[in-house]
Amino acid sequence: MKRVAVIGGGPAGLMAAVTAARKGLKVDLFDAGKDVGRKILASGNGRCNISNVNLSFFDYHSRQPSFVNHVLNEFDFKAFEKFCISIGLLLKTSVDGRVYPQSNEARSIQQALKAEALRLGVQIFTKSTVFELKKNSDYFVLNAQKDGEIYEKVVLAAGSPAAPQLGGSNSGLQLAMALGHDIIEPYPALVGLHLEQKLHKKMRGVKIDAALSLYLNGKCSETVKSDLLFTDYGISGFGTLDISTLASKALKNNKRVEVEIDLLPLFERQHLVAKMGRLCDQIPDAPVMQMLHGVLPRRIAAVILHSLEIEGNTCCKDLNAKELRRLATKMKMWRFRVIGTHGYEHAEAAGGGVATEEVNPKTMESKIVPGLYLAGEVLDVVGKRGGYNLHFAWASGWIAGKNI
Ligand SMILES: Cc1cc2nc3c(=O)[nH]c(=O)nc-3n(C[C@H](O)[C@H](O)[C@H](O)COP(=O)(O)OP(=O)(O)OC[C@H]3O[C@@H](n4cnc5c(N)ncnc54)[C@H](O)[C@@H]3O)c2cc1C
Repeated sequence: MKRVAVIGGGPAGLMAAVTAARKGLKVDLFDAGKDVGRKILASGNGRCNISNVNLSFFDYHSRQPSFVNHVLNEFDFKAFEKFCISIGLLLKTSVDGRVYPQSNEARSIQQALKAEALRLGVQIFTKSTVFELKKNSDYFVLNAQKDGEIYEKVVLAAGSPAAPQLGGSNSGLQLAMALGHDIIEPYPALVGLHLEQKLHKKMRGVKIDAALSLYLNGKCSETVKSDLLFTDYGISGFGTLDISTLASKALKNNKRVEVEIDLLPLFERQHLVAKMGRLCDQIPDAPVMQMLHGVLPRRIAAVILHSLEIEGNTCCKDLNAKELRRLATKMKMWRFRVIGTHGYEHAEAAGGGVATEEVNPKTMESKIVPGLYLAGEVLDVVGKRGGYNLHFAWASGWIAGKNI
């Protein structure tokens, strides 16, 4: 009987352990934390956006899209659904294609996976950090709390540095590097952004539907429409998370990063000028702040007037056409310089990781170290918001477990 070690009890490691154990292999799973699947429990605000029915490599940031494509083709949503039924779990799909456990509780999948692993005889060692992994001719020596355990095959599924409070660390990358793998420098992804101007502080807590365009070295690279939350440090909310992965990668590469906020994406600029003009005609003696508050949340309106040096108590009838145009331009194209991310502690994922060119996507086996398999976020693949990261973890874990 082959002895298999799985390093990391997140979704990728649990999936690999269950799949390998179903083939009759003897599997030991090591996790540094006091329980397995801690990120599963925290995911989707405890609801766990577990997958997505619309899976495509376009939904991932990867230097090698064909790698992601292979993985998704090998284990698609239907395959995942079938697997969930095999562990006693029903799923439900929302109108936008996101998939959740029918129970609406992340704990359902964490418990079901753990129960299946234990039923199959997987030995789960918690509070067991693997601090060394060496390959000797045809076996691995793994050092955790017990010295020198020997395994024929190892799955490295130790995740990324994102969310250290839930087990995120660099340790998987270090283990891979020590065995000769190339690491693409990691960076936080799906995370809030820090802004240079401090205007956001005056708007903190205000949430709006906006369009956000990301500018890298002056060129627009992506626009998303979603909600935007002003915070103490800058911006957050789903729209921000959506552009944050590219922004963070660009910051790592020393590019100039800016975000342009369109506070009223449903209005054309000219249309907005005309609309505000009409509002001013209706309430000519009212202060301009009152008119603007008819269009935007009060605190945003106040900051916009301040930044254009327009007195809030100016009468609407005294606002000239040029000022109306300046107001509309600011509301539609408000540019901010991005100077950093809110860091790994607040990131849902990390980009970078083990170079996928060094891994066979049909088996997840390392091309550098035969017998070593890699799965999940330890690899240089990061998905968009919407269940894509968990799906990649399930899929890559399943392929690794099946091919050991
Ligand atoms: C707050 C939050 C919410 C999220 N929500 C969603 C969501 O709704 N949908 C979605 O698709 N994705 C979501 N994600 C992302 C998703 O959880 C991750 O992409 C996924 O967990 C990665 O799986 P993994 O198995 O590769 O790594 P992890 O889940 O990070 O698991 C790795 C495990 O390895 C262990 N480990 C690390 N080093 C060692 C070592 N040396 N020895 C032993 N054990 C080690 C860690 O303790 C950890 O348990 C969310 C993430 C966070 C933080």
